[in-house]
Amino acid sequence: MLVEMKNRFFMKKHNFSAGPCILPQEVLKKASEAVVELDNSGLSLIEISHRSKPFVDIMEKARALALELLGLEGKGYKALFLQGGASMQFIMVAHNLLEKRAGYLNTGTWSDKAIKEAKIYDDIYEVASSKDANFNYIPKAYDIPSDYDYFHCTSNNTIFGTQMKSFPKCDIPLVCDMSSDIFSRVLDFSQFDIIYAGAQKNMGPAGTTLVVVKEDILGKVSRQIPSMMDYKVHISKSSMFNTPPVFAVYTSMLTLKWLKNLGGIAAIEEENEKKARLLYSELDLNPLFKGYAAKDDRSTMNATFTLQQDYKETFETMLKEGGINGLNGHRSVGGYRASMYNALPFESVATLVEIMSELERKA
Ligand SMILES: *Cc1c(COP(=O)(O)O)cnc(C)c1O
Repeated sequence: MLVEMKNRFFMKKHNFSAGPCILPQEVLKKASEAVVELDNSGLSLIEISHRSKPFVDIMEKARALALELLGLEGKGYKALFLQGGASMQFIMVAHNLLEKRAGYLNTGTWSDKAIKEAKIYDDIYEVASSKDANFNYIPKAYDIPSDYDYFHCTSNNTIFGTQMKSFPKCDIPLVCDMSSDIFSRVLDFSQFDIIYAGAQKNMGPAGTTLVVVKEDILGKVSRQIPSMMDYKVHISKSSMFNTPPVFAVYTSMLTLKWLKNLGGIAAIEEENEKKARLLYSELDLNPLFKGYAAKDDRSTMNATFTLQQDYKETFETMLKEGGINGLNGHRSVGGYRASMYNALPFESVATLVEIMSELERKA
């Protein structure tokens, strides 16, 4: 039967949750300690001024680590830790960049929402969409008009389990929602002009959103921008225009440090590929299961799949006994979704795969 897996992080359960989701055990431990007392200061992280030196240092460290890990230091980019979630970026991107028309790639629920928000500002052109097949693939051939203000895409579709493996070359600013795969794989991040990501998928707790913006694309729209919505204001105030979400920023900083110590994005990418290979090969070999996403577009972060109806009850009992958490699929796809973010140990995927093959043996 199931092998009892001891893993590095003393995890009680195997957490496949799609978001908020698993964080490294050592990050959780350090973050929880800081809530009581930050670095032997006699004060809690959440009761000191955000203008005090300890917190200003934390914010600066978080911003620097983000740029360093992405390989964007000294290339004209600024990193900001803002509030309002990735959903707020759907609005801020349009507010700061949209003058006449923008192009959007529609690859799922989150792109769809970004399009809906941007339409409030102006005419949005959907350059391509995979809605015709309930977003189970990534459209490949499409043109991006060079006179548009920007092009927006979603690198990883958390709900449908598809992931863009390459990005279009375009002369206009390229904006990418990387909420669910930032820091998970090596990319040339300098091809993007704005990258944004809600922290709660691969970086930290909910409450902050990382925005990496190339400064020279800003200041080109004619509309007035309220301060809280203005990237330039946030840049000029070093991401401290108002009180930042101190706990979320601190915990994100710890995760970025953890990632750097592991060897950065290249090292974690190798782990992520190992996990994804193991799960997808089981999905392809096991006749009871069926992968949802088109093979070429499969996400290394979120694997979506269905199971033959007759086996559901048994499978779910086995999952429970195996300590597997968070495997239910999103309501718009059904079935199951295994989210394998950076902090999920290989052993968790091995445990899940063992349950899947055990189910086949029983069937
Ligand atoms: C979760 C998610 C969002 C929404 O993030 P919030 O921080 O809840 O607003 C947006 N885009 C993608 C790709 C996501 O996975």
